[in-house]
Amino acid sequence: MSAVLVVHGGAWAIPDKLAKASVDGVKAAAHEGFLVLKRGGNALDAVEAAVRAMEDNNVFNAGHGATLNTDGEVELDAIIMDGRTLDCGAVSSAKNVANPVSLARAVMEKTSHIMLTDRGANLFAESIGVVRVPTETLVSEYERTEWEKHKNYVTGVNEDFNCQWAHDTVGAVAVDCDGNVACATSTGGIRNKMVGRVGDSPVIGSGGYADNFSGAVSCTGHGESILKVTLARLILSHIEQGKSVSEASQVSLQHMGDRVRGAGGAIVVSPSGQWAATFTTERMAWAAVEQDVLWFGLDPNERVKEQLSQ
Ligand code: ASP
Repeated sequence: MSAVLVVHGGAWAIPDKLAKASVDGVKAAAHEGFLVLKRGGNALDAVEAAVRAMEDNNVFNAGHGATLNTDGEVELDAIIMDGRTLDCGAVSSAKNVANPVSLARAVMEKTSHIMLTDRGANLFAESIGVVRVPTETLVSEYERTEWEKHKNYVTGVNEDFNCQWAHDTVGAVAVDCDGNVACATSTGGIRNKMVGRVGDSPVIGSGGYADNFSGAVSCTGHGESILKVTLARLILSHIEQGKSVSEASQVSLQHMGDRVRGAGGAIVVSPSGQWAATFTTERMAWAAVEQDVLWFGLDPNERVKEQLSQ
C-alpha cells in the first residue's frame, strides 16, 4: 500500500498576516515527514520528523514560537503514539525544551511510564542529555507582543475559537507502507493559561490516539472542550462503527460544538490510507502527502493540489 502523511498547524482564527507562513510551514513539514516514509521509514519516525519541523518554526505554537502562560513562562505539552502496540509517550508543562515531541518519544521508549510532567519531565530530559534551551530563545517576537497586549485567557479563547487564544498547536498522523499508523501532537497550549494548566494535547485519547485497528488522529482547538469529549478516541469510535474518516471527524467536531460549545480541528488517517483534515474554527492550516501529491488548505473547503517533484 502507499504511505500517507497529514499535518496540521492549529485550528483557530488565523489572522491574514500569519496565513502564508502557516501554510508554507505545514507544507514544508508534510514534505519532511513524507520523505521519511518514502525512504522506507515507519509512521512513528515520520510523525516525529513532521512535528519537529513545526516545533522548529516560529510561526507555530510548539517548541519555538510557543505561547506564554500568565507568568510569561513557556510550558510545553506533547504526545506521540504508535498504532502497532498502543505504546505512547507524553510530556506536560515541560520547560526549556526545543522538541517536546522527541522528549515524549523518549518517555515512551526509555521509561516504564506514559507521561512525565513539569520538573519530572525536565529532570528526565537532563538525564538523557537533551539540551536545555533558554526560555527567551523559544519566545517569538509575535508572541511577546500579543501576550503583552492581551492578558485574559477567556477573552482570548472567545476570540480565537469563536466558542472561538490558542494558536497553532501542531500535529501529524501517518500510515506507512506496512499499514502501521502513528500520531503526534505538540503545543505551548493557550496564551495566558494558568501556570500548570495542561490541555488536551498530551492526554491520550484527547489530543491524539493511534491504533492499527482503526486509525490515527491528532486534534487541535479549545483543549478543555476536547478533553470533555475525548475527541481523538471519539473520532476513532465512529470509524470503528463504519463511518468514513471524514464523516467521523465531522460528526465528532459537531458533537463537541453542540455538547460543550467547543471549536477545533482534527487530522485523521486510516490503516488503508484514507485521510481527512476537518475543522469548525475559522481556519486551520493543514497539508497532506500521498503518492508524491501534496494537498493543502487553510479556509473551509479549500483543498489545493500540488505535484511534488520526484
Ligand atoms: N488544544 C491546545 C490546548 O488547548 C491548543 C490548540 O490546539 O491550539 O492546549
